[in-house]
Amino acid sequence: MMGATALELIGVKAEYTVGGTSVVPFQNLSLRVMPGAFWSVIGPSGCGKSTLLRLVSDLVAPAAGTVKVFSETAALARQKRDIAFVFQEPTLLPWRTVLENVRLPFEVGQRGSVTTPRFKPEDLLELVGLSKWHHALPQQLSGGMRQRVAIARALVTRPRLLLMDEPFGALDELIRDDLNDELLRIWAETRTTILFVTHSLTEAAYLSERILVMRVGLPEVVLDGLNPGPGTDASRRRESIEFVALIAELRRLMRGNQVEELAAVRD
Ligand code: ADP
Ligand code: MG
Repeated sequence: MMGATALELIGVKAEYTVGGTSVVPFQNLSLRVMPGAFWSVIGPSGCGKSTLLRLVSDLVAPAAGTVKVFSETAALARQKRDIAFVFQEPTLLPWRTVLENVRLPFEVGQRGSVTTPRFKPEDLLELVGLSKWHHALPQQLSGGMRQRVAIARALVTRPRLLLMDEPFGALDELIRDDLNDELLRIWAETRTTILFVTHSLTEAAYLSERILVMRVGLPEVVLDGLNPGPGTDASRRRESIEFVALIAELRRLMRGNQVEELAAVRD
């Protein structure tokens, strides 16, 4: 399986039809994400970021083009539990403890034909810094801690592709910074491929190796991000000239009147 892409989109068109009216968030989208990569997706509200994740996870079928996850259909990847999701709302079961919430997909998986070794829930809780909280209930945790539980739960099936839809969007900025560092550490330890949707240009620039900039009605742009990788002094990275310049470039690309520039950046 060396060299296989984690995610490949070729000429993908997304379309919703509601009451005879069609909405096309994007079309002709092509992407190749390599195994172990960390990509961010940014763009204004309504440009189709969540739709992209739904296409990748087989929750929505493409109106045109193909979606391949580790060289297989998205449907098969989902069935094999190669894909996991983290949303903005952690959606934990309130009557289950932290440990029981993390175990949930694992329990469901036992009934299926899944034979791949999974992560141990206890190890994942240690990974996200919650080893002392196994028996707490969700209501006893802060928002940031609940989101850590959601991440541990998503990882329990050892997904090869982790889809994150504005996972830290509801958290305040300092907690978000901490979770960004935590996520980089988790990414380094699990080697999972990540596709991360965010509104925050700073977050995208900080986390990703590559950034997909989506615009309503315009082709996508792919930028190389700035991510020297875990181990780099994070606080200094946020203050570096390259980092500030990348955010400025992202901001320009997000603006509505930069069509020529967009065309120039495309490869
Ligand atoms: P984003 O996540 O970037 O804010 P979405 O992917 O949620 O954007 O939505 C992209 C477009 O598709 C929007 O115009 C939205 O109204 C429309 N859309 C999303 N989901 C549906 C749906 N289930 N039915 C119809 N239209 C939808
Ligand atoms: Mg969305």
